[in-house]
This record gives sequence, C-alpha cells and structure tokens, in this order.
Amino acid sequence: MLEKMEGIDLNRVIEEFEAMTRDAGRVQKETLKRILDENGNCEYLLNLGLDGRTDLESFRACCPIITHKDLEYYIQRIADGDSIPILTGRPITTISLSSGTTQGKPKYVPFNDELLDTTMQIFQTSFAFRNRDYPIEGGKALQFIYSSKQFKTKGGLAAGTATTNLFRSSQYKSTMKAMQSQSCSPDEVIFGPNFHESLYCHLLCGLLYREEVQFVSSTFAHSIVHAFRTFELVWEELCHVIRCGELTSRITAPCIQAAMSKLLKADPALADLIHKKCSGLINWYGLIPELFPNAKYIYGIMTGSMEPYLKKLRHYAGGLPLLSADYGASEGWIGANVNPELPPELATFAVLPNIGYFEFIPLKECTDMLEPKPVGLTEVKVGQEYEILITNSAGFYRYRLGDVVKVVGFHNSTPELQFICRGNLLLTINIDKNTEKDLQLAVEAAANLLAEDKRELVDFTSHVDLSKEPGHYVIFWEINGEASDDRLKECCNCLDRSFVDAGYVSSRKVELIAPLELRVLRRGTFQKILDHFLELGAAVSQFKTPRCVGPSNDAVLQILSGNVVKSYFSSAF
Ligand code: AMP
Repeated sequence: MLEKMEGIDLNRVIEEFEAMTRDAGRVQKETLKRILDENGNCEYLLNLGLDGRTDLESFRACCPIITHKDLEYYIQRIADGDSIPILTGRPITTISLSSGTTQGKPKYVPFNDELLDTTMQIFQTSFAFRNRDYPIEGGKALQFIYSSKQFKTKGGLAAGTATTNLFRSSQYKSTMKAMQSQSCSPDEVIFGPNFHESLYCHLLCGLLYREEVQFVSSTFAHSIVHAFRTFELVWEELCHVIRCGELTSRITAPCIQAAMSKLLKADPALADLIHKKCSGLINWYGLIPELFPNAKYIYGIMTGSMEPYLKKLRHYAGGLPLLSADYGASEGWIGANVNPELPPELATFAVLPNIGYFEFIPLKECTDMLEPKPVGLTEVKVGQEYEILITNSAGFYRYRLGDVVKVVGFHNSTPELQFICRGNLLLTINIDKNTEKDLQLAVEAAANLLAEDKRELVDFTSHVDLSKEPGHYVIFWEINGEASDDRLKECCNCLDRSFVDAGYVSSRKVELIAPLELRVLRRGTFQKILDHFLELGAAVSQFKTPRCVGPSNDAVLQILSGNVVKSYFSSAF
C-alpha cells in the first residue's frame, strides 16, 4: 500500500492516471478543445482563420506544422513587451531559454502557469509509481540542481532556463516537500551566482546530511556524473572543511558563505568517517552508497544523449538502482516514467493525454512523402518510429519538437514511448546518414577498447569536416589519463568501422568520404564547453553536450580546435 504523504495522495494520483489513460482518445479530444477554447482569441490562431472552432478537422486544416523558427517573430514580440494575446489567450509573463546546445544558442520559449501545473502533474505521477516500488522514508534529496542567470527581456519579462523558472516557483517547492524530495542544499546554493561554488556546496550539504539523504538526483544524469567526478578532486578539502567547520576561500559568493556558515560546525568525527570511507574505495566504485548509506536510488534523465554517462554512473552507484526520469522539454512535458524498475536503456514514457494534444509523424513514410501525415496519440503503432508534434497551453500548435521516439507498447490506451534521438541527422556528407544514436553506438564500441588500458572516455562530440575534398567525420574525445598511440589508432579504426550505415560504408569504400579522424582533447575541454554555454545563459541543470558541432556553433568549434593534443586517421578502409 502506498502511504498518503502530507498533501498528496499517491494512490489517488495512480488511480487518476489509470482512469485517464484508459480513455486516452477521448481525453485527447477534450484537451485539444480546452486548449483551443482558452486560446482561440490569440493573434496566431485568429490569423490562421480558426475562428473559434475547436474540432480536430478544423484544427488540422487551419494550423500548419511548424518549427521554432516559425514562432520566433511572435515570441520576440512577447519578449519585447507586446501584451495583447499573441500565442496564448492569457499573457505570457515569463520566458524560458531552452538549452540550445544543438544550435549553439539558447532559444526563447514562452513559460506560463499551465506549464508549471503540468510539470507538477508529471512529477507527481512518476513519483507515485516510483514510490510504490522504491519507497522513501522522509528525509532529504541530494539534488544537483542549478539556476541559470536570470535577466529581464526588453519588455520586462523575467527570462531564465525552464528549470530555473521551475525551481524558483513556490508550487515546485511545496510539491517537492509533499514528495519528501526537498533538496538538502539551501536556496542560496541552488541559486548561487557561480556554478562551481554551488556544486562544491551541494556536495558539502550532501555530506552534512548524509544519513538523511534518501536519493541523489539531477535533471539530466550528466550533472550527477560531473558532480562525483568533481568530488574525486575535492574530497580531501571537503573533509578538511567539515573537520574545522569553516569554508575555504574557494567560496566567494557572500550569500552562499552566509547560508553555509549556518549549517557548518566543526565535526572531526564526520570528517574522519568520510575520509576513511573514501580511502577504502577501489577506483571510487560504489562511492554514492558509501557516502549516503540510506539512499534508495539515483534519479534523473538517463536516456538519449545521457546514455553515454550510464557506465560511469553505474560505477559510482555500486548496487543502487538507477531510475530514469520523465520526458519533456522547455516547450512542454510529454510522458512520465511509470515503469521505474526498467533499466535506463529500456526506459519508457507513458504519454499523459491531458497535458497537451500530441500528434506523431511516422518516420518511415515521411521520407517518401512531401507532406508529413501525422497520426493521433491512440493511432500510433508498436514498433514504429515517429517525430512528435506538440500542441499545448503554452502557445505551441502542431509544433515539431525535433525528437524521434519509438512506440514500444501501450499503458492502457496511451502509448509508451522510448526516446530514440534528436531528429536532425548529425553526420552526413553525401548519401551517408548517421544520427545521434549511431554516433553513440560507434563511440561506445570504440571506447570499450580504452577499458583494456584502464582508461575511460570522459565525453565526446563530432564534426563534419568539409574543409578539404572529400569531407570526413571528426570525432573528438576527452580521455581520463594517457592512452597509447597504438590503442588510439585501434579506437579510430573501430569508430570508422562502427558506422554501419550503408551510405557511409559504400562512400568510404570508394573514397567519397575520407578516413575518419579521431582528435584527442586536452583534459578539461568539455568543462570549457560547459562554461561557454553557462556564459550564454544556459544552466547546468539542462546542459546536454552537443553531440555534433556544426558551423553555426563556431565558438564551440574553436574551443575544440584549440584543445586538440593528438589526432589519428583511420586506416579501416
Ligand atoms: P531543452 O531544450 O533544454 O528544453 O531540452 C529538451 C530536450 O531534451 C528534448 O527535446 C529532448 O531532446 C531531450 N530530453 C528531454 N527529456 C528527455 C528524456 N527523458 N530522454 C531523452 N532526452 C530527453
């Protein structure tokens, strides 16, 4: 039996989800009607001639399928302070910045209370299922969450990343409290002006509350791995801080200093214990349960571009389960993970039929069709891949999110999706087609060879080099420690061979694509890339390493090029 937590009845959350998903088709219809009713008077829908109609046929006939580019003009006017109903019936008061790691710069996205409500709904839904299988017992969560820089747009609207807007809301805080998932770090740490100082203090707070920590989490798994990699470097200093009860000069922000000094007191026994535990570990295996003996699981988005971090995360986690979080975007949420017991590689997301109207463009058919013909939520087929379209209360109508998902089953009558990859092809020179997933698989295969030398891949990205004819793929690697030339040559050949797409293989054979190049980066290069995105206003909480760096991402390309220490060309073909 699920306990009734203070303020939320988890059994009821599950019952409501079950009822709604049993009738997903009807709920979708009603949801579309509600969205169009509430927003029918906005300029965007009026211009399209929808004229207050709320039925599916009129909606499809009037509203074209769009991308973010089509909305830029409208969003810019909102940001500039035009307060008439533009994309939504009610005015937008906050702007979110999406991570923008693909394009090189953050995108503006409207943020409103409806988005906040659906976020809470999805968090509660997955928590109810999670807590049924992995109950937590009250206490705290060690959450590696951070805010971005916030600023005012020309029109005076608050702008920051979606997660920052979320973490700042009182609704988020009360929901987290009701879910016993309150962060063990004070707000001053979460909203601190400097990410490195916040991370250091998150670790410190985690250690101070080590007995109470029930789970360790972040929005995207990358932040957890990054945090414990940092722990490896600063653990002795952290022990020293705990021993004497005083922060080091590393923490300069007065607000963080003040908040932390309230928590810190000299605790030599705790410092000794942590020191002993860390000293006893072999290559940091099982660090997380060792530090946090009552932690029940590790939680965060672990799918898609986060999968490459799973190996390291499992290493730190020892035997603790890794539970993958929900699926959504700054533009809106899509599905909840209601099967928390599945390993992250198999995680699925059950679409919540009342948080938006969803359409799916079948990918197989789409390649030979000029006009994509999307199908509705309950018309999708198991085994088929789709690109997802969102219509929701935040001003998006038939909006291409850009993600590819696969339907792997149904929960009642709502589909369970697996995230496949971003839709745009990453690597293509002529007839070759390689996606983020293809790159990930190739890198995984080659990085396994590094393990033989006890080296590990810290992170990776790619680039298509067209500066000489014929063009070639470049894969950038940052490695923990030195690998031998022979090993790296072997890795380079393995990468080249692991792109099994027929277009790539045939082009390589006839030299229409030149040999793949592996460029090894100086240690810390990916940290520099992260810092670069933070400068642009991104937040670590939403950071995703760009898996392919195109020409529009010039600044990142320069960071990469300036930090290459070795390069190898494949002789695989
Ligand atoms: P953002 O642009 O920062 O709002 O990030 C949204 C994007 O992150 C989505 O469009 C997906 O590509 C990715 N994403 C979000 N949730 C997941 C998930 N559960 N699994 C994989 N990728 C995800």
